[in-house]
Amino acid sequence: KASRLFHPDDTIVEVNGIRIGDKEKLVVIGGPCSVEGEDMVVQLAKDVKAAGAVMLRGGAYKPRTSPYAFQGMGSAGIQAMVAARKQTGLPIVSELMSIDKLDEFVDNVDIIQIGARNMQNFDLLKAVGRTDKPILLKRGLANTIEEWIMSAEYIMSEGNEKVILCERGIRTFEPATRNTLDLSVIPIIKKKTHLPIIIDPSHATGDWELVEAASLAAIAAGADGLMIEVHNQPECAWSDGAQSLRPDRFAEVIRKGRAIAKVI
Ligand code: PEP
Ligand code: MN
Repeated sequence: KASRLFHPDDTIVEVNGIRIGDKEKLVVIGGPCSVEGEDMVVQLAKDVKAAGAVMLRGGAYKPRTSPYAFQGMGSAGIQAMVAARKQTGLPIVSELMSIDKLDEFVDNVDIIQIGARNMQNFDLLKAVGRTDKPILLKRGLANTIEEWIMSAEYIMSEGNEKVILCERGIRTFEPATRNTLDLSVIPIIKKKTHLPIIIDPSHATGDWELVEAASLAAIAAGADGLMIEVHNQPECAWSDGAQSLRPDRFAEVIRKGRAIAKVI
């Protein structure tokens, strides 16, 4: 169902009037790695909107490497995101880790994110495939393009064709960056599938100083959008501060991005 062969036209996933996959428009999603409270995420939502973002990201259920690290605010985090949407009008994206929270996500979020670590959680993929929510499917930490497309098929085969792919870097031997950003996936995915593809330069690089270059390169390579971690005090962030941009730098990335290809 994802194949370009049987579906020559680009798929555009529409969320509250925002078109992801539209050649004329680059969609920028900004927000914190983790929701740290309602005031925090409402303020950030206002800041990323002022910078030019059209959607808000924020994790409430966090897939952390260590069980002793902050695990996310859970339902309170989702409600804080809902409050931020109410105040700014920005649609919200958040990661679902477990089927038992599916109803909460269907009722509250605009795009359900499936994280890299769950790219091959096939029961979870089938469950979101039975909803009608747009699904942001991240590429696994060490998965091939073919495996990633097959995961999209798991969602689509259940009836939900609103799949947006998100490249977030893969594991290689190179330790200078958190992951290795694979921009070649953009033309490959465009050739093999009709689905929109966005880039997450934050998890791909792990370093805020590299986020701008990775973002601009992604735009030049034809990405349909960017999802970037933003925080007002990155040094105090509860997760991923080292890769988070302050709103002013985030605005700068969008400004420079405008000069490259699509209209933002
Ligand atoms: C995230 O976007 O919050 C996240 C955890 O990313 P990934 O699944 O790509 O590691
Ligand atoms: Mn993060």
